[in-house]
Amino acid sequence: MKAAVIREYGKISLEEVRKPELGKGHVMVRVKYASICGSDQHIFRGEFHPRTQLPLIPGHEFAGVVEEVGEGVTTVTPGDKVTVDPIIWCGKCAACLIGHFPACTSLKLAGIDLDGGFAEYISVPVNMVYKVPSHVSDENAALIEILSIGFHASARAGLEADDDILIVGSGKVGNSILHAAKTITRGKIILADVLDERLALAKSAFNDIYTVNTRKEDPLAFIREITGGRGVDIAFEAVGHEKEVEGRYNPVRLCINAIRGAGKVCVLGLSDHPAAILMKELIWKEARIIASRVSHGEFARVIDALDRGLVNPEKMVTGIFDLEDAQKGFEYLENEPAKHLKILLKI
Ligand SMILES: [Zn+2]
Ligand SMILES: [Zn+2]
Repeated sequence: MKAAVIREYGKISLEEVRKPELGKGHVMVRVKYASICGSDQHIFRGEFHPRTQLPLIPGHEFAGVVEEVGEGVTTVTPGDKVTVDPIIWCGKCAACLIGHFPACTSLKLAGIDLDGGFAEYISVPVNMVYKVPSHVSDENAALIEILSIGFHASARAGLEADDDILIVGSGKVGNSILHAAKTITRGKIILADVLDERLALAKSAFNDIYTVNTRKEDPLAFIREITGGRGVDIAFEAVGHEKEVEGRYNPVRLCINAIRGAGKVCVLGLSDHPAAILMKELIWKEARIIASRVSHGEFARVIDALDRGLVNPEKMVTGIFDLEDAQKGFEYLENEPAKHLKILLKI
């Protein structure tokens, strides 16, 4: 079968590899579309080394159809449209024993810790497979995983119907929070970033959101103005680094300053360096910082939202490439972050 393989960091190319075996309790999925994630970019650059071992077939956001089912599989049948939750938890660590799987100490993801879906076929245990209604497009089905990140963050933060929120970072994660939040809150949504193009892209999907370029405008003054001086109920940090825009707070501290008293900050950005925060600012507000990692069964919620037409993640897609052009897709994302958000690979 054909697969896009990383053999050395910075290079991904189409290869002929052995089709995986279909084990007992497994499902063979013929992948139709896969999406390049921010984590894939980290892997591509070598930043997940040594967690990632080469050669690797990346891809943890993908969807397709069931080609064949292994012994004992009864919940899906060949021809079903499906997507795959890439998370594999150990079931034995302290977090797993209380059912808090995203905090599993040996959490693994298909496409990061083992081969993933940038391939014609993948064989996965049936418990990772979710059926997708046939009227949902293959492209949207490949974006269920990224949306699940936003739905999980919303659940972790306890987002409610009238909450005003701030999302710092208009990248893939920030946009997944935006799409999820739009199905939950009628409140004001403020999106902050340093790239006008990214803010414009999000605004083209949802024209009633407020956007602020933190390089050009003081985001706290802007938030005060929009919320009538009150501050937001929840601020999501989805930047992924701790760097400050000159004259502004770093992303986490911006979130702390943006919330109302007793508000919440939900952090998702995977920064490699400490972010300085001033504890007083947190204490005065008796605020809470909540962390959100991957997802926890939110695939079902996303599929329901897609089924009812409540979300259209296609609006995040800025390019579709054939699998053989995966390198081009990665290079576009690396070199033109203002122009590209989600790139799909057609397989
Ligand atoms: Zn991802
Ligand atoms: Zn565990």
